[in-house]
Amino acid sequence: MPSSSTQAACSSSYSCPDYADAFAQHETGLVQTWRRVIEAAAHSAGYVAQYIGRVSGFTENIVQTIPKKLDSPIQNEEIGGADVSSNPEYHDSVLQYLEEIARANHYNDINSLVLKISRRKLAIKNWEKGGLIGGGSFGSVYKGSNEKGSFFAVKEVSLSNKKGLGLLRNEIAILKRLDHENIIQYYGTDKDEEKLYMFLELVSHGTLEQAYKNSPFKESQVSHYSRQLLQGLKYLHGCNVIHRDLKCANILVTEFGNVKLADFGLSKSMEDGQSLKHGVGSSFWMAPEVANPKSGGYDFRADTWSLGCAVVEMSTGKSPRYNVRDAFALERAIRMGTGPIIPNSFSHTLKDFIEKCLQPDPSLRPTAAELLAHPFVNESSCKQPDLSELLFGER
Ligand code: ATP
Repeated sequence: MPSSSTQAACSSSYSCPDYADAFAQHETGLVQTWRRVIEAAAHSAGYVAQYIGRVSGFTENIVQTIPKKLDSPIQNEEIGGADVSSNPEYHDSVLQYLEEIARANHYNDINSLVLKISRRKLAIKNWEKGGLIGGGSFGSVYKGSNEKGSFFAVKEVSLSNKKGLGLLRNEIAILKRLDHENIIQYYGTDKDEEKLYMFLELVSHGTLEQAYKNSPFKESQVSHYSRQLLQGLKYLHGCNVIHRDLKCANILVTEFGNVKLADFGLSKSMEDGQSLKHGVGSSFWMAPEVANPKSGGYDFRADTWSLGCAVVEMSTGKSPRYNVRDAFALERAIRMGTGPIIPNSFSHTLKDFIEKCLQPDPSLRPTAAELLAHPFVNESSCKQPDLSELLFGER
């Protein structure tokens, strides 16, 4: 079950007196450091143009500016007054301090926090519809732009399409509560006489399905994407939301290789300890307890199963395949939790990761948070940017 601190962070209603006090004490030293953090991290992520005009604002009064720029107050009760005075441990203390702020606010690292600051939410007025990006079963997605020249994605559904409208309304209700770098960012809605529109962050490189069809993924790429998906799922489940339709066609990827969970039409907000009965999702990615009406129900761990299938999909460049002859046998295999074929050519670590996700008994299946410790996605086995080098250069 999600911890109370994780749930609370989703409601965006925290203040941060400790954080402000501690920062005020060390303001002079940190003003310079923050400038370097933001410059280095934003540069490394290719966001220089977006943030340059804002950096001066930061250095004026860092204590008040950072929470404002984050749009929501910072949750940071745990951070005390770290020693950042001029001693040999100065750099490490600052790094640790900033990392704690990032993590306490559900960002993976300082880079992510800085990106969030530079990517403030768009207020969309006087917008125009541009070219078609993609079509789903119930609606279409277009590029949109506003009078300030910002671009975003617009998902539209006709008001006469009752089923599509229900899915879009559900997606809006779920997405408006979420804020995580590995989950598509919601910007707002609009409506006219014919259609309901939902505005989203525009993700440049389409879906992971389109990406692997263009060029097959290496295992290191799959590891990188899987780690981010687990981070998104950990946050999502911490907010008591189950996705229920996780597959590569519903995961978007940016030019920087950041992946975002999308298409929340089938998602559901759950009560504490609730078990769902209604079997929904896409068959090839569906957990056995979801597919089997006699299973007694399912919870967040159904998403872990689907993640395992999506990892098979990314690694093989094809939808998950089952070793069966006909549709009847396929349905049975899905209900029994046989799982898709895992090719022998996969590394031992990748196979082990997939097998853990595809544990047929949901009570033995690890959660997304637990899977983050698996060697296939563990940070120590994946090359991470060296923050110390990023901030202070070589030491
Ligand atoms: P489905 O039939 O899978 O339920 P849908 O009607 O819910 O589809 P989406 O899957 O959300 O629609 O989107 C359709 C396509 O539009 C996606 O496959 C993707 O290529 C593109 N798309 C969706 N959202 C975005 C976005 N935010 N940025 C860029 N492209 C997007």
